[in-house]
Amino acid sequence: MGEIGYRVGVRAWAVRGVELPFGDAPGAWWIDALGSVHDRLIAGADPLPGRFFLPGLVDAHAHPAISAGPAGLVALDAGAARANLAAWARAGITVVRDAGSPGGVTLELTPAPGLPAMQAAGRFLAPAGRYYPALLDTPVSDADLVSYALAEIGRGAAWVKVIADFPDLAAGTDAAATYPMAVIAQLAAAAHQAGARVAVHSTLPNAGLLVAAGVDSLEHGFGLDEHAIEDMARRGTAWTPTIGALLALLAAPDLPSARRRRLQEGRERVAGLLPLAARLGVPVLAGTDVTGSIPTEVALLAQLGLDPKDALAAASVWPRRFLGAAGTADIVTYHHDPRDDPGQLANPAAVVAAGIRLLLTGRRPGPRRAGACGHTVAKASKSLAWVKVRSTKVSASPRASPPRSCIWPSMAIPGARV
Ligand SMILES: [Zn+2]
Repeated sequence: MGEIGYRVGVRAWAVRGVELPFGDAPGAWWIDALGSVHDRLIAGADPLPGRFFLPGLVDAHAHPAISAGPAGLVALDAGAARANLAAWARAGITVVRDAGSPGGVTLELTPAPGLPAMQAAGRFLAPAGRYYPALLDTPVSDADLVSYALAEIGRGAAWVKVIADFPDLAAGTDAAATYPMAVIAQLAAAAHQAGARVAVHSTLPNAGLLVAAGVDSLEHGFGLDEHAIEDMARRGTAWTPTIGALLALLAAPDLPSARRRRLQEGRERVAGLLPLAARLGVPVLAGTDVTGSIPTEVALLAQLGLDPKDALAAASVWPRRFLGAAGTADIVTYHHDPRDDPGQLANPAAVVAAGIRLLLTGRRPGPRRAGACGHTVAKASKSLAWVKVRSTKVSASPRASPPRSCIWPSMAIPGARV
């Protein structure tokens, strides 16, 4: 753990600014060791820099034990996975849902100071020839699906990850269902009884059947429709649209034309469904998969139709609630409002993960970092001034926001178009 610097012994933190993602009024706030926010002074609190604060970012579909190299996806060992997690924590990601790992290697990782809290899914559950060969060490047949899932839960998996559709790699055909729906329903019931939850990789229009089968989260969900979204709202099923991963797939030059057309239709469908999902209260979760970053995913969610506040909620308070993040002090602060410029999310002013303030090394100091519309943000920040509010000493005056139309379309994955 030599690469992680942190401060210990602090039991409360003080912030001056706006509570994200939905707050408007700046104020002086104190946050205790359980992460509860108070408007009364807590003696001895450690003051944090920054004028905006968030209870930490969440990556709800990540693969710390996989790297995406030029030759394809590569399985990583536990040490490399741990190093990824440590780097993500310094970027403000305080909770990670591991959406599967080769051989379930992430189940070997134990909590430690300076790492995000993690919920791991164990090994990928997919039949032979129906997932990336480098990541699928043990194919799982229909008959074995429930017992393999229970084995991963027995190893400590909080989630099981089922590949519900995938291209047939040997035949070269496009994605098709991998397991009978009745078997997936059995799996969901067994996992729930064992205290775990089920995440399914789903890109086909049978997504509504998976929801009805009782799974807990749809990963990708490019084949969802309005009826399925309404059912998810009733059941509390989550949706991780992984838009950066979708755009990266579409940017691949060798994509078969039928698959490209299907994914393009999926992108249009996702854009149409995101506002409905948010309005109905479906937990929409930001996830990077094996590409992009959380700041980029937040920007893409907004570009495809979420209000910027909701896009930020999808990377923070919504997944925290859905995952049941532990009651500990997770705090990330920013100098500028990430709802105006999601690029600010890449440059936190301070990170407290599970009550431990991380040393942010190798970073550009100070509050003047330009964002995607940098000069506009910097100009707006000149109008900031601290004023008195709530009978406490500090708060910020209203500030001129840069126009969202300038900021939000400017974040995009190189080579990909929304
Ligand atoms: Zn994934």
